[in-house]
Amino acid sequence: MSPNKVKLLAQLKRILPPGEVSFTPTVLTEHAGDKWFASHPPDVVVLPRSTKSVAAVLRFANRHRLPVTPRGAGHGYVGGCVPVHGGIVLSLARMNRIREINAADFVAVVQPGVNTQKLQQEVEQQGLFYPPDPASLQFSTMGGNAATCSGGPRCVKYGVTKNYILGLEVVLPTGEILKTGVQTLKGVAGYDLTSLFVGSEGTLGIITLITVRLIPLPPARRCMLATFPRLDDAPLAVSAIIRARIIPSTLEFIDQAAIRCVEDYLHIGLPTQAEALLLIEVDGDEEVIGKQCKAIEKICYGQGASAFQTAHSPEEEAQLWKARRSISPALLKLNPDKINEDITVPLSRIPEIIRRVNAIAQKYRLINVSFGHAGDGNIHTNLMINRNNPDEVTRAHQAVKEIFQATLELGGTISGEHGIGITKAPFLEMDIGSENRALMNRLKNLLDPNHILNPGKLSLS
Ligand SMILES: Cc1cc2nc3c(=O)[nH]c(=O)nc-3n(C[C@H](O)[C@H](O)[C@H](O)COP(=O)(O)OP(=O)(O)OC[C@H]3O[C@@H](n4cnc5c(N)ncnc54)[C@H](O)[C@@H]3O)c2cc1C
Repeated sequence: MSPNKVKLLAQLKRILPPGEVSFTPTVLTEHAGDKWFASHPPDVVVLPRSTKSVAAVLRFANRHRLPVTPRGAGHGYVGGCVPVHGGIVLSLARMNRIREINAADFVAVVQPGVNTQKLQQEVEQQGLFYPPDPASLQFSTMGGNAATCSGGPRCVKYGVTKNYILGLEVVLPTGEILKTGVQTLKGVAGYDLTSLFVGSEGTLGIITLITVRLIPLPPARRCMLATFPRLDDAPLAVSAIIRARIIPSTLEFIDQAAIRCVEDYLHIGLPTQAEALLLIEVDGDEEVIGKQCKAIEKICYGQGASAFQTAHSPEEEAQLWKARRSISPALLKLNPDKINEDITVPLSRIPEIIRRVNAIAQKYRLINVSFGHAGDGNIHTNLMINRNNPDEVTRAHQAVKEIFQATLELGGTISGEHGIGITKAPFLEMDIGSENRALMNRLKNLLDPNHILNPGKLSLS
């Protein structure tokens, strides 16, 4: 860093309360990356405790044209919080208070650094439910979830983060503090500015307060596992279940490569000849879910399942989830690194996309394992590579491009949940089209005229 820049950034210590600014090398390193393979250290880390501090940082950064990269827990997969241009990392980790859980109005108000799982546990103690469940919820923050519009297995029945955000407090890149949305379950006054910021991946404003909708906690849930000898039958069973007016809270899909990989890892007797497993969960009243389980079993057998198990205790439930939860560690036995994508296709296209992805992987001599959320068509493809092998890395990048092309041809999207960040930025226009991208650029220019906020992400120019 040049002496002038050092002097400039040191001013942050004067404009912010004590302890909110760090130049300590270990702190810079801790804030350099997320779960993507590459990282870049910032010049300084700011850890504000208040919205006032956030606004002061942005006014300062905007005046001096300094890049600011917002950060929650750093558990993204697409490099969204990696400060590729250096500058300031603005970590919201210390703004981690649950301000209010209002059981009478079914809302909660939280600061962005609140851990997702903590919010869920706190509301559940009051018989309430905050459904969005990214698999990273043990670590992720509500600010990160809002900025990426996270979703998880429960999406099929309950939707994703945007379906639960009623209002936000946002600090604009120019330092103004904006309150969007409502504290009520309805509200249509003006443009839906809340939705503009949800999923904007930290490129339009810093989210400093979030009002979320809560619903009653379902009293019971039950888990089932269906084995399908033929790949095509599993998504047909998914459609048949939903057509039978049963919306499971979870419908997870595991392909044959993943089954074999987990079996090699755990040796728990998984059916390695099966082409697909479906992990199904229903929730609701005990009496109703009992009937739903029986109906689902009948539907699965009718659609070609060769085996079906229902869990009758928490231990049996954990056993059924074991294969799904062990995929990530099992994969790393195949190769040290993975390129994990989150493509999403219409339900009926799941078998076709899996076949096409496998054919692409074969063409480029790569190992691929697919699993994901069959209820919403969101499939995680995992190309297992060794990043120290440049030839393999080049082949993997070519394969990813073809996987995205195939996904779009089938009416899908390149990202169902992880977002665009850096890794998918070159492909964004291919997905949304040049007109949408041009409009995104105009919105960016309007809200962030000096492009200080999260530069290098989402392919904004
Ligand atoms: C093992 C694993 C499993 C995952 N499973 C899922 C899944 O099932 N579903 C899913 O959707 N995602 C999943 N993810 C991706 C990731 O966890 C989510 O995107 C999550 O929302 C990131 O939260 P975070 O707090 O770690 O945010 P970060 O990674 O710190 O940031 C994510 C993005 O949000 C921006 N940001 C963060 N906080 C703010 C704020 N307050 N204001 C403005 N911008 C902000 C950052 O700049 C960045 O662009 C998974 C990741 C991992 C590692």
